[in-house]
Amino acid sequence: MTLSRRKFLKAVATSTLAVAVIPGDSQGFELKGRMSPSPKALKAKRWGMVVDMSRCRDDCAGDCIAACHEVHNVPFIPEPDHEVMWLFQEPYANAFPDQSHGLVARRSDGWKFLLMCNHCNDPPCVRACPTQATFKREEDGIVMMDYHRCIGCRFCMAACPYGSRSFNFRDPRPFIKKINPDYPTRRKGVVEKCNFCQERLEVGRMPACVEACKEGVLTFGDLDDPASEVSRLLSEKPHTRRKPDLGTGPSVYYIL
Ligand code: SF4
Repeated sequence: MTLSRRKFLKAVATSTLAVAVIPGDSQGFELKGRMSPSPKALKAKRWGMVVDMSRCRDDCAGDCIAACHEVHNVPFIPEPDHEVMWLFQEPYANAFPDQSHGLVARRSDGWKFLLMCNHCNDPPCVRACPTQATFKREEDGIVMMDYHRCIGCRFCMAACPYGSRSFNFRDPRPFIKKINPDYPTRRKGVVEKCNFCQERLEVGRMPACVEACKEGVLTFGDLDDPASEVSRLLSEKPHTRRKPDLGTGPSVYYIL
Protein backbone atom coordinates (compact mmCIF):
# COMPACT_ATOMS: atom_id res chain seq x y z
CA MET A 1 0.00 0.00 0.00
CA THR A 2 2.81 2.36 1.01
CA LEU A 3 4.73 1.44 -2.11
CA SER A 4 1.86 2.10 -4.47
CA ARG A 5 1.23 5.46 -2.78
CA ARG A 6 4.90 6.34 -3.26
CA LYS A 7 4.71 5.28 -6.91
CA PHE A 8 1.59 7.37 -7.33
CA LEU A 9 3.23 10.46 -5.82
CA LYS A 10 6.32 9.94 -7.98
CA ALA A 11 4.15 9.72 -11.11
CA VAL A 12 2.30 12.91 -10.14
CA ALA A 13 5.59 14.72 -9.45
CA THR A 14 7.05 13.58 -12.77
CA SER A 15 4.00 14.66 -14.74
CA THR A 16 3.90 18.02 -12.90
CA LEU A 17 7.54 18.65 -13.77
CA ALA A 18 6.92 17.67 -17.37
CA VAL A 19 4.12 20.25 -17.55
CA ALA A 20 6.40 22.84 -15.93
CA VAL A 21 8.96 22.55 -18.73
CA ILE A 22 7.63 25.32 -20.93
CA PRO A 23 9.86 26.89 -23.58
CA GLY A 24 10.69 30.42 -22.54
CA ASP A 25 9.64 29.81 -18.96
CA SER A 26 12.50 30.32 -16.54
CA GLN A 27 11.46 27.90 -13.80
CA GLY A 28 10.65 25.20 -16.31
CA PHE A 29 14.02 25.75 -17.90
CA GLU A 30 15.89 25.20 -14.63
CA LEU A 31 13.83 22.13 -13.84
CA LYS A 32 14.49 20.66 -17.26
CA GLY A 33 18.20 21.01 -16.57
CA ARG A 34 17.93 19.30 -13.21
CA MET A 35 15.63 16.51 -14.28
CA SER A 36 17.51 15.20 -17.29
CA PRO A 37 21.25 15.80 -17.05
CA SER A 38 23.06 15.05 -20.28
CA PRO A 39 25.79 12.42 -20.21
CA LYS A 40 27.92 15.06 -21.94
CA ALA A 41 27.55 17.53 -19.04
CA LEU A 42 30.77 19.24 -18.00
CA LYS A 43 31.42 18.90 -14.30
CA ALA A 44 33.67 20.58 -11.74
CA LYS A 45 33.91 20.85 -8.01
CA ARG A 46 34.23 24.60 -8.31
CA TRP A 47 33.92 26.36 -11.63
CA GLY A 48 36.10 29.40 -12.10
CA MET A 49 37.18 31.86 -14.78
CA VAL A 50 40.61 33.30 -15.47
CA VAL A 51 40.67 36.57 -17.43
CA ASP A 52 44.11 37.18 -18.91
CA MET A 53 44.17 40.94 -19.34
CA SER A 54 47.59 40.81 -20.97
CA ARG A 55 45.81 39.33 -24.02
CA CYS A 56 42.74 41.61 -23.98
CA ARG A 57 43.36 44.73 -26.03
CA ASP A 58 41.48 47.33 -28.00
CA ASP A 59 38.10 46.54 -26.58
CA CYS A 60 38.33 42.94 -27.73
CA ALA A 61 35.76 41.92 -25.10
CA GLY A 62 32.98 43.20 -27.35
CA ASP A 63 32.55 39.78 -28.97
CA CYS A 64 32.26 37.84 -25.75
CA ILE A 65 29.81 40.32 -24.23
CA ALA A 66 27.67 40.20 -27.37
CA ALA A 67 27.72 36.38 -27.39
CA CYS A 68 26.71 36.18 -23.72
CA HIS A 69 23.90 38.68 -24.06
CA GLU A 70 22.60 37.11 -27.25
CA VAL A 71 22.50 33.59 -25.82
CA HIS A 72 20.83 34.70 -22.59
CA ASN A 73 18.28 37.13 -24.00
CA VAL A 74 19.82 40.07 -22.18
CA PRO A 75 17.98 43.20 -23.34
CA PHE A 76 19.77 46.17 -24.83
CA ILE A 77 18.29 49.17 -23.02
CA PRO A 78 20.19 52.34 -23.89
CA GLU A 79 19.18 54.32 -20.80
CA PRO A 80 22.04 53.80 -18.29
CA ASP A 81 19.67 53.69 -15.29
CA HIS A 82 17.76 50.76 -16.79
CA GLU A 83 20.69 48.90 -18.31
CA VAL A 84 20.85 45.12 -17.86
CA MET A 85 24.30 43.50 -18.05
CA TRP A 86 25.67 40.05 -17.44
CA LEU A 87 29.15 40.95 -18.69
CA PHE A 88 30.47 44.49 -18.64
CA GLN A 89 33.70 46.45 -18.72
CA GLU A 90 35.29 48.96 -16.39
CA PRO A 91 38.71 50.60 -16.14
CA TYR A 92 41.17 49.40 -13.50
CA ALA A 93 40.30 52.13 -10.99
CA ASN A 94 36.63 51.09 -10.99
CA ALA A 95 37.22 47.34 -11.15
CA PHE A 96 39.85 47.31 -8.39
CA PRO A 97 39.26 50.45 -6.33
CA ASP A 98 40.96 48.90 -3.30
CA GLN A 99 44.11 47.95 -5.23
CA SER A 100 45.23 51.29 -6.55
CA HIS A 101 48.82 50.19 -6.97
CA GLY A 102 50.48 52.96 -8.95
CA LEU A 103 52.54 50.67 -11.17
CA VAL A 104 49.63 48.39 -12.08
CA ALA A 105 47.35 51.37 -12.55
CA ARG A 106 49.85 52.92 -14.99
CA ARG A 107 50.42 49.64 -16.81
CA SER A 108 46.72 48.99 -17.24
CA ASP A 109 45.88 52.54 -18.20
CA GLY A 110 43.30 52.35 -20.98
CA TRP A 111 42.45 48.69 -20.40
CA LYS A 112 38.84 47.78 -19.91
CA PHE A 113 38.48 44.91 -17.48
CA LEU A 114 35.82 42.33 -18.26
CA LEU A 115 33.57 41.99 -15.23
CA MET A 116 30.83 39.55 -14.32
CA CYS A 117 29.34 37.79 -11.33
CA ASN A 118 32.26 36.32 -9.39
CA HIS A 119 30.32 33.26 -8.24
CA CYS A 120 31.69 33.92 -4.80
CA ASN A 121 32.58 31.09 -2.51
CA ASP A 122 30.76 32.86 0.32
CA PRO A 123 28.23 34.97 -1.59
CA PRO A 124 26.66 37.82 0.38
CA CYS A 125 23.88 38.06 -2.21
CA VAL A 126 22.68 34.58 -1.23
CA ARG A 127 22.61 35.49 2.45
CA ALA A 128 20.62 38.66 1.68
CA CYS A 129 17.92 37.03 -0.44
CA PRO A 130 14.75 36.52 1.62
CA THR A 131 13.17 34.02 -0.79
CA GLN A 132 16.16 31.87 -1.77
CA ALA A 133 15.69 33.07 -5.33
CA THR A 134 19.45 33.23 -5.49
CA PHE A 135 21.40 30.27 -4.25
CA LYS A 136 24.79 28.63 -4.55
CA ARG A 137 24.97 25.16 -6.03
CA GLU A 138 26.91 22.96 -3.68
CA GLU A 139 27.96 20.62 -6.47
CA ASP A 140 29.96 23.18 -8.47
CA GLY A 141 29.83 26.57 -6.73
CA ILE A 142 27.73 28.36 -9.36
CA VAL A 143 25.55 31.09 -7.88
CA MET A 144 22.18 30.81 -9.58
CA MET A 145 18.97 32.79 -9.90
CA ASP A 146 15.50 31.30 -9.85
CA TYR A 147 13.65 34.11 -11.60
CA HIS A 148 10.26 32.84 -10.45
CA ARG A 149 11.17 33.15 -6.81
CA CYS A 150 12.55 36.67 -7.19
CA ILE A 151 10.25 39.25 -5.59
CA GLY A 152 12.31 42.19 -6.81
CA CYS A 153 13.35 43.43 -3.35
CA ARG A 154 16.91 44.01 -4.64
CA PHE A 155 18.51 43.07 -1.31
CA CYS A 156 20.92 40.91 -3.36
CA MET A 157 21.96 43.93 -5.40
CA ALA A 158 22.64 45.93 -2.26
CA ALA A 159 24.62 43.03 -0.80
CA CYS A 160 26.77 42.37 -3.89
CA PRO A 161 29.97 44.41 -3.51
CA TYR A 162 30.77 44.04 -7.22
CA GLY A 163 27.72 45.54 -8.92
CA SER A 164 27.29 42.25 -10.75
CA ARG A 165 23.50 42.19 -10.72
CA SER A 166 20.95 44.04 -12.81
CA PHE A 167 17.31 44.82 -12.14
CA ASN A 168 14.63 44.82 -14.79
CA PHE A 169 13.01 48.18 -14.17
CA ARG A 170 10.90 47.61 -17.27
CA ASP A 171 9.73 44.68 -19.36
CA PRO A 172 12.97 43.55 -21.02
CA ARG A 173 11.38 41.62 -23.88
CA PRO A 174 10.85 44.51 -26.31
CA PHE A 175 14.56 45.32 -25.94
CA ILE A 176 15.86 41.90 -26.94
CA LYS A 177 17.17 42.09 -30.50
CA LYS A 178 16.49 38.45 -31.35
CA ILE A 179 14.97 36.12 -28.78
CA ASN A 180 16.81 32.85 -28.25
CA PRO A 181 14.00 30.33 -27.75
CA ASP A 182 16.33 28.00 -25.87
CA TYR A 183 16.75 30.37 -22.92
CA PRO A 184 14.04 32.01 -20.81
CA THR A 185 13.29 35.70 -20.98
CA ARG A 186 12.73 37.61 -17.77
CA ARG A 187 10.03 39.96 -16.57
CA LYS A 188 9.86 43.46 -15.14
CA GLY A 189 10.76 43.45 -11.45
CA VAL A 190 13.27 40.57 -11.58
CA VAL A 191 17.00 40.60 -10.85
CA GLU A 192 19.41 38.80 -13.18
CA LYS A 193 23.12 38.15 -13.62
CA CYS A 194 25.75 35.86 -15.18
CA ASN A 195 25.15 32.18 -14.49
CA PHE A 196 28.51 30.86 -15.77
CA CYS A 197 26.45 29.39 -18.62
CA GLN A 198 25.11 26.63 -16.40
CA GLU A 199 22.67 25.67 -19.16
CA ARG A 200 25.52 25.14 -21.62
CA LEU A 201 27.73 23.23 -19.18
CA GLU A 202 24.85 20.83 -18.71
CA VAL A 203 24.98 19.87 -22.38
CA GLY A 204 28.76 19.73 -22.58
CA ARG A 205 29.46 23.23 -23.88
CA MET A 206 31.81 25.88 -22.57
CA PRO A 207 30.41 29.32 -21.62
CA ALA A 208 29.38 31.44 -24.59
CA CYS A 209 31.92 34.14 -23.77
CA VAL A 210 34.77 31.62 -23.71
CA GLU A 211 33.70 30.18 -27.07
CA ALA A 212 33.38 33.65 -28.58
CA CYS A 213 36.73 34.94 -27.35
CA LYS A 214 39.29 34.40 -30.10
CA GLU A 215 42.19 36.00 -28.26
CA GLY A 216 42.56 33.36 -25.53
CA VAL A 217 41.66 35.89 -22.85
CA LEU A 218 39.16 33.65 -21.08
CA THR A 219 39.91 30.27 -19.54
CA PHE A 220 37.19 28.38 -17.71
CA GLY A 221 37.65 25.29 -15.59
CA ASP A 222 37.74 23.59 -12.24
CA LEU A 223 39.56 25.63 -9.61
CA ASP A 224 39.67 22.59 -7.35
CA ASP A 225 41.39 20.41 -9.94
CA PRO A 226 45.17 20.94 -9.75
CA ALA A 227 45.49 19.56 -13.30
CA SER A 228 43.02 22.00 -14.88
CA GLU A 229 44.13 24.80 -17.16
CA VAL A 230 42.80 27.45 -14.78
CA SER A 231 44.89 25.96 -11.96
CA ARG A 232 47.96 25.89 -14.18
CA LEU A 233 47.54 29.54 -15.17
CA LEU A 234 47.01 30.63 -11.59
CA SER A 235 50.06 28.71 -10.41
CA GLU A 236 52.26 30.25 -13.11
CA LYS A 237 51.08 33.84 -13.49
CA PRO A 238 50.59 36.69 -11.04
CA HIS A 239 46.91 37.34 -10.62
CA THR A 240 44.37 39.12 -8.50
CA ARG A 241 40.69 39.06 -7.67
CA ARG A 242 38.23 41.84 -7.06
CA LYS A 243 38.02 43.07 -3.45
CA PRO A 244 39.66 39.97 -1.94
CA ASP A 245 39.73 41.56 1.52
CA LEU A 246 35.96 41.22 1.80
CA GLY A 247 36.33 37.46 2.16
CA THR A 248 33.69 36.60 -0.43
CA GLY A 249 36.11 34.34 -2.31
CA PRO A 250 35.51 35.34 -5.96
CA SER A 251 35.87 32.55 -8.54
CA VAL A 252 36.94 35.00 -11.24
CA TYR A 253 40.68 35.75 -11.42
CA TYR A 254 42.55 38.41 -13.38
CA ILE A 255 46.04 38.01 -14.81
CA LEU A 256 47.49 41.49 -15.25
FE1 SF4 B 1 26.68 37.35 -5.50
FE2 SF4 B 1 27.88 39.56 -6.40
FE3 SF4 B 1 29.37 37.46 -5.58
FE4 SF4 B 1 27.95 37.29 -7.85
S1 SF4 B 1 29.66 38.71 -7.44
S2 SF4 B 1 28.07 35.75 -6.22
S3 SF4 B 1 26.14 38.51 -7.36
S4 SF4 B 1 28.01 38.72 -4.32
